[in-house]
Amino acid sequence: MKVFQETNGQHVDSYYAASANETTSYPQLNTDIEADVCIVGAGFSGLSTAIELAENGFKVVVIEAVKVGWAASGRNGGQILGGWKTGYDEMEKSWGLDAANMFVALSEEGKNIIYQRARKYSIDADIKKGFFLAAMNQSHMRDLHHYATDMNKWAYPHETQIVSQQDMKQHIDSDAYVGGMYDMGKGHFHPLNFVLGEARAASGLGVKVFESSPVVKISGGDEPTVFTRHGKVKAKQVVLAGNCYLGNVAPALEKKIMPASTFVIATEPLGEVRAKKLLPRNMAVCDMRHILDYYRLSADNRLLFGGKTIYSGANPKSIKSAMQKDMLKVFPQLADLKIDYAWGGHIDLAVNRMPHLGEYADNVFYMQGFSGYGVVPTHIAGRVMAEKIMGKSERYDVWSNVKHHSFPGGTLLRKPGFLLGSNFFRLRDMWAAIRP
Ligand SMILES: Cc1cc2nc3c(=O)[nH]c(=O)nc-3n(C[C@H](O)[C@H](O)[C@H](O)COP(=O)(O)OP(=O)(O)OC[C@H]3O[C@@H](n4cnc5c(N)ncnc54)[C@H](O)[C@@H]3O)c2cc1C
Repeated sequence: MKVFQETNGQHVDSYYAASANETTSYPQLNTDIEADVCIVGAGFSGLSTAIELAENGFKVVVIEAVKVGWAASGRNGGQILGGWKTGYDEMEKSWGLDAANMFVALSEEGKNIIYQRARKYSIDADIKKGFFLAAMNQSHMRDLHHYATDMNKWAYPHETQIVSQQDMKQHIDSDAYVGGMYDMGKGHFHPLNFVLGEARAASGLGVKVFESSPVVKISGGDEPTVFTRHGKVKAKQVVLAGNCYLGNVAPALEKKIMPASTFVIATEPLGEVRAKKLLPRNMAVCDMRHILDYYRLSADNRLLFGGKTIYSGANPKSIKSAMQKDMLKVFPQLADLKIDYAWGGHIDLAVNRMPHLGEYADNVFYMQGFSGYGVVPTHIAGRVMAEKIMGKSERYDVWSNVKHHSFPGGTLLRKPGFLLGSNFFRLRDMWAAIRP
């Protein structure tokens, strides 16, 4: 698979790779082995499942095509968000009150898995609390007020506050916004260091991790088996946690997701004084457009600025200059800063933006469709998947019952169809910006 060769077996050249706490050198799978559970993919979802199972005494193998955290989990914006794009009222309407209540609880549990796992396994990932949702127009402000009512109704347990335009500089030194809302329940972290720490934790629990081992085939049944070019793993159960990279390994899964690209730049360090003026409360920030900017400070006071989701899965000609242009629209005062790193990655969009959990073939399960908000849901999905494998399927049953449609046009035509869709979102953002 060509995509796995793009970075010559290394992590993508990013600020995260340059500031990683450790390097990994897990072996390649060169033999035939057996396990209780074999997991394909060493990102957050695969490793989270592995840790939950290993903590409960299971013999687990994780097979990774390139390196631990090579894809989205080691490249993302590092924003620890609520996890679901779908609102709880909408969930209640579509799937019933019990399901909505379950997803409310799962979001909190997912964040706590991250915070508790960092403490339990001494994972140093610069975790910070605080998130700011920034409104770019009055239509966004109206949405924020609805959102605040919604949070109250669903008993959101953290400090939140709507911020008016005149108080914005206490949070973000930019004239791009008309207000916003801060939320102390969310936050940010160094995602690559977190996923590397999770691999170390899993390995310490006895999980066998293999890198440089692309899976080329799987078979389901009583003894599901995972094949690489140089070996195979016979297991009792298999979990596919490969984001949008599985391709021919599980072709039926591809129709339900759409790969899209999104990009991040890291400036040179701003210095403490300038960083504190830019984002005085050191919160992660997203704006409220459909095709949004997301940004935050790193531990060494760089601005990590992300956005520009491209639904065709392609890259702009120069990630650095395209993203710098977007950054300067929000922070023109940063024009003197050098951009030290620029990178991109793929997200697995689901039609309804809800992650899918399900059974692909007998004893072969999957998780996908984290849709660009996966930091928290991958962690809770790992726990719910592990529960299913351990024979406790209540939460898995509710989650896997969420209906998922295929992208119209199948894998061939979904991109042109979705490009039309993304232009529609752009127009919606423009209309919201000019509407009184
Ligand atoms: C640039 C970017 C910014 C983002 N920002 C945020 C954010 O700020 N907040 C947020 O909540 N979410 C964000 N996301 C989304 C989030 O990172 C993902 O939803 C999440 O990391 C997905 O985790 P995963 O384990 O499912 O997939 P991944 O981390 O992509 O891991 C899948 C792994 O499976 C491996 N694999 C696939 N196929 C095979 C195979 N055949 N054989 C062996 N291994 C295989 C891959 O190599 C990969 O390592 C962002 C994503 C990107 C790309």
